[in-house]
Amino acid sequence: MNVQELWEELHASPELSMHEVHTMEILEDYIRNETDLELYVENGWLYAAHEEPDADKTIVIRAEMDAIPKPGGGVFHGCGHDGHAAMAAGTAAALKGRKVGKNVIFLFQPGEEIGAGAAICLPLFDRYKVDMILACHNLPGYELGSFVYTENTFACASEGLKMSFTGRQSHAAYPEDGLNPAGCAAKTISELLQIAASLESTKGCRLTIVNVQVGNPDFGINPGFGSVSVTIRAENDGILKDLEHKVLQIAESSADQDGLGFTYNIKDPFHATVNDAELAERLSAAGKTAACSWIHEEAPVVRWSEDFGLFSDKAKAFYWGIGSGTNQPGLHTEQYVFPEDLLEKGIRIWLEMIRIA
Ligand SMILES: [Zn+2]
Ligand SMILES: [Zn+2]
Repeated sequence: MNVQELWEELHASPELSMHEVHTMEILEDYIRNETDLELYVENGWLYAAHEEPDADKTIVIRAEMDAIPKPGGGVFHGCGHDGHAAMAAGTAAALKGRKVGKNVIFLFQPGEEIGAGAAICLPLFDRYKVDMILACHNLPGYELGSFVYTENTFACASEGLKMSFTGRQSHAAYPEDGLNPAGCAAKTISELLQIAASLESTKGCRLTIVNVQVGNPDFGINPGFGSVSVTIRAENDGILKDLEHKVLQIAESSADQDGLGFTYNIKDPFHATVNDAELAERLSAAGKTAACSWIHEEAPVVRWSEDFGLFSDKAKAFYWGIGSGTNQPGLHTEQYVFPEDLLEKGIRIWLEMIRIA
């Protein structure tokens, strides 16, 4: 099976985060048949190791396996993880019978989209002394096959905040007997929108109101509960925590003013994906020799988040981008398909990066 055929198989069997069962089987078959790497199948994740007795370092190349829900139902590979996994497996196949002077481990991670997968792969770092961990993502809007990098933050930190207000329910005919959180929610929203507007001039920080609720459409009831949910993001974990603090303060003080109870939950937290500056500078040379163009970007390169951020606590990390075409539909849009032409281009860059790492 060649790498195009591998991609076609992965593409045809998209699976949601943490349910990548058939995807793992496809990758296992390919690694057994097309590479001479040692295959390790774990519970929900897998890796393949190219080991050399006189290797002086260990490199991990990480690829994701999950797909996403399709608008209107179904599942599809709307982020290109089918392509990332095929590129990594194809690179593993290209190492067959070769010596590169280092150990290279190909890690196939589940559940990136929901931020749940990286954590279950952490035992890898107990088994190997990992010197560096690398990953890439295709980037619509950049020329097909271009190499995109920064020596700083690649992808932003983000989290969801659900802020809940508790008052007292009463009959809709006697609102004066209850404590309705609608005013508090409105005040909170209006202040949060001002923060959102003030963040628009920054490259990496955003506040998006994702859900608002006060009571239900039950017309006989003056509701006693409400909530405002937001997603916040920032170019590093520290700025994100400052923003979180500001948002919570606004909600809590409006609740206090109205005599309401206040609680909050944090959902889907992602660390920022921050590159090791020295490693990024050094390995970006692979883009100069092996990619069709080379783009140094201001940090953060993208505003979305990646659970790769968790790995950068364990080893030096470098996350780079590969352009998937200027006319390519955006990630997660219904029209998105990983461009097959990118497979060989990506493998060429990975091989060069392994060589100079
Ligand atoms: Zn995605
Ligand atoms: Zn993705």
